[in-house]
Amino acid sequence: MKVTVDNNSGFCWGVVRTVDIAEQELAETGKLYSLGEIIHNPVEIERLEAKGLHTIRHDDLKNLKDAKVLIRAHGEPPETFRKMKEWGIDVIDATCPVVTKVQERIRKFYDKKYQIVIFGKKDHAEVIGLVGHTNGTAIVIKAVTEIDKLDFTKKTVLFSQTTMDKETFYAIRDAIKEKIKAEFEVGTFEEMALDFHAKDTICGQVSGRDKKLREFSKSNDVMIFVAGKMSSNGKVLYEIAKSENAKTYFIENESELQKEWFAGIETVGISGATSTPQWLMEKVKKEIETTFN
Ligand code: SF4
Repeated sequence: MKVTVDNNSGFCWGVVRTVDIAEQELAETGKLYSLGEIIHNPVEIERLEAKGLHTIRHDDLKNLKDAKVLIRAHGEPPETFRKMKEWGIDVIDATCPVVTKVQERIRKFYDKKYQIVIFGKKDHAEVIGLVGHTNGTAIVIKAVTEIDKLDFTKKTVLFSQTTMDKETFYAIRDAIKEKIKAEFEVGTFEEMALDFHAKDTICGQVSGRDKKLREFSKSNDVMIFVAGKMSSNGKVLYEIAKSENAKTYFIENESELQKEWFAGIETVGISGATSTPQWLMEKVKKEIETTFN
């Protein structure tokens, strides 16, 4: 049985940067708090915890003394930074620069009084941060069926959470255009003076992986997809792999592998999310080779 790790998978540069920042601080001081899980991967968190990382929640912030707190790649709403300053907490801001850029762009449109629409998951940390840049006014939708929440008479801009899928983003954009057109019952969308913009802010580190993952999934008899169960990007990529190869299995670590998945097959592909460390995929590979071959 030939087992291959997908060399287009694993940490995106934004996550590499966040983990590097944390490790640098841990090497110097041996203690760092992360506001929320540093990445959606419990195995990698465990590795960093052994070096002195502590995961905390927003409620814990006010009780901290002489602490350094890391803001993870997803970013935070401005309110969090304001409170941390008020409580004298040292902030290590490891927000991914791609996310910071989206926050800034949203803020600009918000200041110009646009109705802000975000294609994303409303409880996702990145989205909470983005909504925070509109004083909580942005409308979050995750499907075309939800566009009725919008006021089509307002000038509007559509953004995306960085880890969503492009296909749905563009379907939502087109549905909004159609609605605006229907609302005013005049000419084509392009002829109208109405102000609607769609800003595709899906990260290239995620969208570029779709195509390669499809090819990789098709070229293996069985696919093992390794990611944290809370990883939004992990779920999207897993679905893509599964759509190309019905024998695709989602695991968080090597202990979840099952013998029957490998009966009579010749090739196994291992892939992961942008939050899946390379070393973990290698560990899964080794386990398959030594236990199930
Ligand atoms: S997927 Fe993109 S936006 Fe998200 S952390 Fe990675 S580089 Fe940054």
